[in-house]
Amino acid sequence: MLGAIAGDIVGSIYEFDPIDHEDFEPLFGEDATFTDDTILTVAVADALVSGRDPVETFKAWGRGFPNAGWGGMFARWLFSDETAPYGSFGNGAAMRVSPAGWIGRDLDEVLALADRVTVVTHDHPDAVDGARAVAEAVYRFRTRATADAVRDAIGRRYGYDLDRTAAQIRPHYDFDETCRGTVPPALVCALEARSTEDAIRKAVSLGGDADTLAAIAGAVAEARFGLPTDLANEALARIPEPMRDVLRRAYARAGAAMPGGTQDADPDPAT
Ligand SMILES: [Mg+2]
Repeated sequence: MLGAIAGDIVGSIYEFDPIDHEDFEPLFGEDATFTDDTILTVAVADALVSGRDPVETFKAWGRGFPNAGWGGMFARWLFSDETAPYGSFGNGAAMRVSPAGWIGRDLDEVLALADRVTVVTHDHPDAVDGARAVAEAVYRFRTRATADAVRDAIGRRYGYDLDRTAAQIRPHYDFDETCRGTVPPALVCALEARSTEDAIRKAVSLGGDADTLAAIAGAVAEARFGLPTDLANEALARIPEPMRDVLRRAYARAGAAMPGGTQDADPDPAT
């Protein structure tokens, strides 16, 4: 959850200004800020913790941030009275779903929760699969599966080619907002990484939809490696308190400790 948010913030300044290397500095750029990936991750967590209708939580959270980098079709849905899904196969289904992987108590429940928050907008089979794949990877890693086991299970079940490296993908990768074009490369970054920061750096280095790639890679890597306190605190300092409050309740529901060192106080003494 917070790994997705960290990835979104780190990647935010590279979505329209892509880079092709991992050793960019600083990790969190001065102008890096949360975008749609963070807002909807929080909205999914809110829906799953509160039991509210995901349509209601997406609209309530999303409309509070009109300039968050929304995709065109989602923006039309968000700011209209429309409540029906619109057949999307976009990567939005996958970037927001990580709370399902944390809150579900077994794999069946994880997949059911992923579907519940996905089909309300992204009812195309590729999007349902993309959300399930990310939620399943989060669940498997947080229940201590190895990277080889996750690569096999996810590759086989969803038909994704995960037997590649970020270095092999990078030269041929173009901006791609589909689930099928985003989820496999983001998973490769999390599978190949040595740490959560490494996964986020690899995802940004692919170019393309950098914040969403990094949100997915960061979400999965967090479940595998955890989120270092300094990285968690940097992300927490860049989101508003109502989002932190939802995250505290979501980690509590998952029976997991929220990453970061100063959870009860404002982590940024300057604000
Ligand atoms: Mg974004």
